[in-house]
Amino acid sequence: MKQPQRVLNIFLAVVVSCFSQCALGQTSKPNIVVLATGGTIAGAAATGAQASYTSGKVTIDAMLDAVPGIRDLATLKGEQIANVGSQDMSFEIMLKLAKRINELLATNDVDGVVVTHGTDTLEESAFFLNLTVKSDKPVVMVGSMRPSTAISADGPLNLYDAVAVAGDPNAKGRGVLVVMNDWIQGAHSLTKTSTTAVQTFMSPLRGLVGISSYGKNDFYNNPSWKHTTSSEFDISDVTQLPRVDIIFADEDMSPDLIDCSVRNGAKGIVIAGVGNGNMNKASVDAAARAVKQGVVVVRSSRVPTGTVGRNVEVKDDELGFVASDELNPQKSRILLSLALLKSHTPEQIQQMFATY
Ligand code: GLU
Repeated sequence: MKQPQRVLNIFLAVVVSCFSQCALGQTSKPNIVVLATGGTIAGAAATGAQASYTSGKVTIDAMLDAVPGIRDLATLKGEQIANVGSQDMSFEIMLKLAKRINELLATNDVDGVVVTHGTDTLEESAFFLNLTVKSDKPVVMVGSMRPSTAISADGPLNLYDAVAVAGDPNAKGRGVLVVMNDWIQGAHSLTKTSTTAVQTFMSPLRGLVGISSYGKNDFYNNPSWKHTTSSEFDISDVTQLPRVDIIFADEDMSPDLIDCSVRNGAKGIVIAGVGNGNMNKASVDAAARAVKQGVVVVRSSRVPTGTVGRNVEVKDDELGFVASDELNPQKSRILLSLALLKSHTPEQIQQMFATY
């Protein structure tokens, strides 16, 4: 073929290809990495109609292959970080996950990350990543309430929506998001509210960040607390976190639990207090003893919504306690564990609870 003819042919091929892509509305697909950690979304049972099952049985590739159309939304790569029920999620796995996400999002080849996770402790891992991921690219967590083998399994559509959100430029800069049952929620505010219902996650104080319906996203809110790129916590060289225990308060609670926690090496204690972070007099005295030994005590609440304020019924200024503000006990434990890497001063840690 003569040179001018070849140039003309190449030109025509490019024009035809551009035209057909535009006519079909195609643009280049986002590159999304799906990091799998296990949970019910990867769970399997012997039959479709039974409550008992084993978490973390199905691999990430099998999960992706089971979702029709998901590969039209994004160019997907799967990686197995762990395969556990989230009751077995550990700080070791969470550190590995956060480091891997930071590594992936630092490259130009990855536009967003999806993390599959069991729902039991999903809120803690979401909040941990919200504080330790150093990128404004979307990080979306997803789980399911029914195992992959169940009648009406909820995992496939949740995963489809999660990939759609992770590939959406509008999801950028909103911190770590959780997508389940059509709802997009923020890591700071969501909590698991039902042991079995598909609509288990709620954000009682802050509401929804948005909606994802069959991959079409609508964003309503931006989470207002600091996160990701504006967070001061850097785990790049961290290999373990200090021990922080949660102690549940109730009528006539025993103060021994607080003393026992201190004796066993806790550097921080979170009280899942009654009402506005309260506990009985004997336990307030035990917590004050713990503070005198250098342990940081945070008062949170076992009540599902509302804030815990300073000096309401407990003399925080006098006793050196920290009030958890909006954070529930399990998220207070995450923030306190990270805070203790930087400070043991209650005033400074209180400031962190007002910020994150
Ligand atoms: N224990 C399981 C887990 O958290 C069940 C909860 C779920 O994933 O729905 O992995």
